[in-house]
Amino acid sequence: MVLLPLDPNRALAAARRPLPDVCSRCGRCCFEKEYGPNSTVAYGDTPCEYLDPKTLLCTVYADRHACKQGCRSLTLEVIAEGWLPAECTYYTYFSPALPDLRNCFC
Ligand code: SF4
Repeated sequence: MVLLPLDPNRALAAARRPLPDVCSRCGRCCFEKEYGPNSTVAYGDTPCEYLDPKTLLCTVYADRHACKQGCRSLTLEVIAEGWLPAECTYYTYFSPALPDLRNCFC
């Protein structure tokens, strides 16, 4: 398994308390998944049966792990594993800071 690099300061801060809520409520992580080699994850077009298509929220959130096999809680490990869909805002939040290019004249 290849782990994604996370911003060390934000990852350290998040490890001490609940993750910050930067979720955009897109619902994409609640779509079907296929697992490939090296634990890679590909997202399909079929939503979980418990995803409300209007609100894009889980309808059984409190019991989601009992209701749906394979449903995972959001943790730093889940983010670092690349388990979430590519468009997930948690990747943006935990990505290492991009270099400041404003003073780059190359
Ligand atoms: S994919 Fe990421 S941003 Fe979208 S609902 Fe899931 S956790 Fe939130």
